[in-house]
Amino acid sequence: MTLRGIVKRYGPATVLDGIDLDIAPGEFLTLVGPSGCGKSTLLRTIAGFEPQDEGQVRIGDRVVDRLPPAERDVAMVFQSYALYPHMTVAGNIATPLEMRRLSLAERLPLLRLASPRRPRIRREIMAEVEAVARQLDILPLLARKPAQLSGGQRQRVALGRAMVRDPAAFLMDEPLSNLDARLRVQMRTELAELHKRLGATFVYVTHDQVEAMTMSDRVALMEAGRILQLGTPAALYDTPASISVARFIGSPP
Ligand code: ATP
Ligand code: MG
Repeated sequence: MTLRGIVKRYGPATVLDGIDLDIAPGEFLTLVGPSGCGKSTLLRTIAGFEPQDEGQVRIGDRVVDRLPPAERDVAMVFQSYALYPHMTVAGNIATPLEMRRLSLAERLPLLRLASPRRPRIRREIMAEVEAVARQLDILPLLARKPAQLSGGQRQRVALGRAMVRDPAAFLMDEPLSNLDARLRVQMRTELAELHKRLGATFVYVTHDQVEAMTMSDRVALMEAGRILQLGTPAALYDTPASISVARFIGSPP
């Protein structure tokens, strides 16, 4: 994934101020930086929810600037999970597959009977949902509603919904910040394993220094819409480019 000269303005405020970034396929890149520095905006720009004012986003070998989010081959995982409360876990995970494989008419309850291919496609979709749920260890929860799940289980459902899309890149905005300390540590390990298993690119936002330093191939430290320093966790620790980097990383003074 390549970002070139990304500028994003909200009214008079320049929130992203010329971001250049090359992220290797399969890399785990973590964005850190103070509140308001533009981390979430950058993820939303890559995902296509917030078109940039200047610059270019390339994912794989395609320039995606004119493509809607669904066609960008990325999946975003939010801190708030953003699950559909009225749907079961299975329904939540299946939604991206249904959107892709069933026509609008086939998704409408009244017209379902009229479609001979619908039962077959539904079976294929359920098989994929179960495969992903098994990987995430939530197979027994498929019939529940989000309100009947713990925070960690909801987070897994949100991950499952991203995984069924089989994207080239996962964009994760503080996915563990709503979890208690014990679950956060457990999910940290699980996310790192998932990253290895999937081989996908992860662009990950966190305020948690331990997450940034232990999970990432590289860390990008942002400040006021720019990238202040980019490097491996070890490089940032050994040679912080500024006092604010040193402070975040916890380097010795
Ligand atoms: P945090 O760590 O608190 O989540 P962040 O680095 O993710 O912060 P962003 O959410 O990207 O920060 O916001 C960057 C700046 O853009 C902030 O000053 C914010 O107030 C502003 N901003 C974000 N979204 C909008 C919007 N829709 N309209 C106007 N300003 C916005
Ligand atoms: Mg944010």
